[in-house]
Amino acid sequence: ESMNKDAKLYVAGHRGLVGSAIVRALRNAGYSNIVTVDKKQVDLLDQQAVAAFFAREKPEYVFLAAAKVGGIVANSQYPADFIYENLTIQSHIIHESYRNNVSKLLFLGSSCIYPKLAEQPIKEEALLTGPLEPTNDAYALAKISGIKMCQAYNSQYGTQFISVMPTNLYGPNDNFDLQSSHVLPALIRKFHEGRMMNAPAVNVWGTGKPVREFLYVDDLADACLYLMNTYAGSKIVNIGTGVGVSIRELAEKVSYVAGYQGNIVFDTTKPDGTPVKINDVTYIRSLGWLAKTDLLQGIRLTYEWFVKDY
Ligand code: GDP
Repeated sequence: ESMNKDAKLYVAGHRGLVGSAIVRALRNAGYSNIVTVDKKQVDLLDQQAVAAFFAREKPEYVFLAAAKVGGIVANSQYPADFIYENLTIQSHIIHESYRNNVSKLLFLGSSCIYPKLAEQPIKEEALLTGPLEPTNDAYALAKISGIKMCQAYNSQYGTQFISVMPTNLYGPNDNFDLQSSHVLPALIRKFHEGRMMNAPAVNVWGTGKPVREFLYVDDLADACLYLMNTYAGSKIVNIGTGVGVSIRELAEKVSYVAGYQGNIVFDTTKPDGTPVKINDVTYIRSLGWLAKTDLLQGIRLTYEWFVKDY
């Protein structure tokens, strides 16, 4: 059953990369009753505050995009924050969604829930078949718990809580802080500043050999709306392009878009993380959804946003 245009929709995490894109997509699609709430008003780590918020607002649909996220170094430095905040926020929202009869909830997972050495491209069935990548296992375990929690509520209480596993995302409203961000926003900033300052070289972490898949966040938001309107299973759904690119190739593309003319140097004292990470997108394709934005175009859009609005 698809969402009515006037149904009350709660987007948790509306200031972040994913939540802001979901709000944008909902507005563009004509949804008019979107509820968002700032951290100062409702602290999602505070169970009573979340319970009171749900009892008051009674949303019909929930997009659970609130999370503590970060790149490879942030994840390895602050594993306690990543596991505590993610477990807590998602438990509060999933449980209150059940208690307040939410019709459907969409939980945002991540492709880093899959085993470090999962067969590539990664199928949904690879979940819990091997050891995790140690640089982000605390975050991954929180997200795996979120998936299991959605499935458990579906099975015990008959809820419709669906879970999606996006690949590495990028786009407007991303975190561009060089210490805590993911690779794509970091490179956008580094190459932009490199050009502005005429730097002879730009520093890229690791060997440049790891392969990652990148999805423009508006495509993710489009997939989330699509699934909210058409999908109700407990089976998790990968979202991505199905196409990988090496960090070296990515750096070359960003350097080109930013108009940077200097050298790219690789800092091998920084970790590479998992060697390859590409989602198998056969399942979501069979459900009728396909990514639209190609990588160069997405980098251009994000670069323009960074230069204008950041
Ligand atoms: P991951 O996909 O969970 O490993 O997260 P990241 O997006 O943080 O990193 C992806 C890959 O990009 C890793 O191999 C990093 O070492 C590499 N990388 C290269 N330069 C950077 C950078 O400036 N920041 C980040 N976060 N990663 C970088």
